[in-house]
Amino acid sequence: MTYDFLIIGSGISGALIARELSKYDVKTILLEKENDAANHATSANSAIIHSGYDPDPGSLKAKLNVEGNKLYDQLEKELDIPLFKNGAFMVAHDKDEEGLLERYLERAKTNGVPGVALLDQAEAKKLEPNLADSVTKVLNLPTTKVTYPWEVAIASIENAVDNGVLFEKNQTVEKIDKQDEYYVIKTAEGTTYQSRYVINAAGAYAEQIAKMVEKNVQYHITPRKGEYIVLDRRVQGFIKRTLYPTPDEKGKGVLMVPQFHGNILIGPNSELQSSLDDASTSKGGINVVKEGANRLAKNIPFHQTIRTFSGVRASSTHHDFYIKPSLEQPGFIHVAGIDSPGLTAAPAIAKYVVETLIIPQETLPINKHFNPRRQAIKLYDDMSLSERQEAFKADQRYGNLVCKCERITEGDIVRHIHRAVKGDSVKAIKKRARAGAGICQGGYCEHQIIKILAKELGKTPLEINYFAKGSNILKRETKVKS
Ligand SMILES: Cc1cc2nc3c(=O)[nH]c(=O)nc-3n(C[C@H](O)[C@H](O)[C@H](O)COP(=O)(O)OP(=O)(O)OC[C@H]3O[C@@H](n4cnc5c(N)ncnc54)[C@H](O)[C@@H]3O)c2cc1C
Repeated sequence: MTYDFLIIGSGISGALIARELSKYDVKTILLEKENDAANHATSANSAIIHSGYDPDPGSLKAKLNVEGNKLYDQLEKELDIPLFKNGAFMVAHDKDEEGLLERYLERAKTNGVPGVALLDQAEAKKLEPNLADSVTKVLNLPTTKVTYPWEVAIASIENAVDNGVLFEKNQTVEKIDKQDEYYVIKTAEGTTYQSRYVINAAGAYAEQIAKMVEKNVQYHITPRKGEYIVLDRRVQGFIKRTLYPTPDEKGKGVLMVPQFHGNILIGPNSELQSSLDDASTSKGGINVVKEGANRLAKNIPFHQTIRTFSGVRASSTHHDFYIKPSLEQPGFIHVAGIDSPGLTAAPAIAKYVVETLIIPQETLPINKHFNPRRQAIKLYDDMSLSERQEAFKADQRYGNLVCKCERITEGDIVRHIHRAVKGDSVKAIKKRARAGAGICQGGYCEHQIIKILAKELGKTPLEINYFAKGSNILKRETKVKS
């Protein structure tokens, strides 16, 4: 089969580009090297839909950030994704930082961010009583939102698949050759594809992919790690808004981010590293995060910490998003250097790639059957009493509570296993149904999730992965049989 478009990488960029292309009557395939969509930067970030106060005016980041922020309201309706419209404060502690607030107020206005204003200490404290006492002034950024990043990517792929796109995971692109008007793409798993266009949305690996095609890649990826602490959702309401410090030379700094489901995320730090995917955490990094947070709020309930994690930003030497056609090979498009605010900008990135880079080159016929809507699966815990009664009547597995912390039933898990983009690992179920995302982090329910996955997928429990390929938790049978 020959495709018109082959997209490499199913993070938020590739997922939304796939969906955007599904609006046209073209053959598109999305390839992912991992055993699930959105396993890299898209699954380990602050989840903020930034307002656009931060990027340099005139940059692609500034334009696509502000546009992307608005497009999330449309995505919420079309894809039924979580979107928490909680706003944000950037806080200052002294005259110097107050000067920075004024600078960012002007920058936000230049970038077209609506509703920005300075508030004094008393006004800010009234809205956020747990602000640190040392805070003297804040910049109010009311269009800041929070989403559930991997759910947005998975929902976009599900909608794209529903509209005719093919999604194949466990396919690691390792060789790309140009033959006449086609690219021939080979994967480590032994599959060969042909496509007229290749879109490189491989995140931190974008430079590696580009080197398969170009002699002189115009950017170099300089990975930056960011570490986080997650507080349990019992802290819900401690702060309502996202809290930012004033930015420094390393970026936006350590933030406090109330999440859609009630948890609070604290982080990230920002450390250059050579590895493209080392997502470990360190005591030093977590201490930096705690110190940063203590400048934002007082009496932070750190004792409610349920886990730490880190993500790797695909920053580049270009210092802006590098979204351009190849200078050497027609039909190869770079979507590279997508660090922050890539999550926010992604819907606008997708439009930019299709409408600005592709359509002027060739007319794309409209997909007359495009359906923009995709329906989320409602969890039992979110159902009304009558919905629960109906659900239980139809499937008694809704009566088996598996994840006690997040109140997720077997019925919920089964439905998330069989979604259009299947959840077939323990982490994939955590990402989709939140089973194992609570205070015990799967300690009490993981074994049951493995059993349910094995039963539904027709596999043995030994074959069920925790996360990436080869991460099976159970290594061999013992004499105890269930
Ligand atoms: C710590 C941190 C905090 C952040 N906070 C925010 C925030 O609050 N708001 C915001 O807007 N942005 C934020 N960002 C940025 C945002 O997360 C990223 O810009 C976005 O997730 C990038 O998505 P992507 O699809 O480009 O890359 P990725 O999500 O990394 O996806 C790339 C995909 O390509 C796949 N791939 C790579 N090589 C191959 C290959 N050879 N073959 C097949 N597939 C391949 C990978 O497996 C991966 O799934 C943050 C990032 C980090 C790391």
